Amino acid sequence: MTELTAPVWKTLHSAGNDADVFLRRLLEGDGDFRENIDILTEDISHQLSFYTATAYVLPHLAALCPVLSSADEIYLIAKTGPAIAAEADRPLSPDTEAGREFQEGLNGLRHEVRFLLTVPDTAALLKADPELCQEFALSALSILGDRAHAYGMYLLSAYCWEVGHAACACGWNDEELPLSEHPDCLEPVSIGPWDGKSLSEEAVWLHGLLSLAGDKQLRPVLPYLYGTGACPDCGRREPYWTWLARFMNEY
Ligand SMILES: [Zn+2]
Repeated sequence: MTELTAPVWKTLHSAGNDADVFLRRLLEGDGDFRENIDILTEDISHQLSFYTATAYVLPHLAALCPVLSSADEIYLIAKTGPAIAAEADRPLSPDTEAGREFQEGLNGLRHEVRFLLTVPDTAALLKADPELCQEFALSALSILGDRAHAYGMYLLSAYCWEVGHAACACGWNDEELPLSEHPDCLEPVSIGPWDGKSLSEEAVWLHGLLSLAGDKQLRPVLPYLYGTGACPDCGRREPYWTWLARFMNEY
């Protein structure tokens, strides 16, 4: 963890180039906790871009978590997901200082999310607030699961998950694949029930977390996002995630 007095902070970027200012306010309890979280996390995830400040902010957030109430910790984690997922678009090398800071923060947050999932309070708090539940589930995916999947879901949230993007190596592509209309070219995967504990199958626990507050937006399309596409032009079969990644890289 890099102290806020270290010179490196002056070289780090965020949307307002002031992540250190709002992190300091948050750590010192200066002002409203949730307002500081909102400003800081927007500063490091604006337009779903990856900012260099993110890697250095995360270890501080992870260290702050254990002293927070469950409600505040859930809120902090729910808001931090987009900044973490954006790293999938600009991966850090693990051999750099920034890469090590990012991993340190991520490891701390992984521990916290795993802990929260064992506490009965967590399910009760998420059930009471569907919007927070959806944000927390996507953040948990960013932290515990595949960040590229989380990044894709945040991108598609702009379309309320009604449409997805897809591209095959043969050149076929569709910017508005109607996920919510269950297109013929996508074969859905079957997602079984979650026991509330196991984190072995990403689609299962994500679906289970979203189910806590009865999510009706993202949950219905998860079988398609984790499903298999068959190209309408060449017939090649690939995971939908491959289609989405190719579209984002090439179009
Ligand atoms: Zn094709």
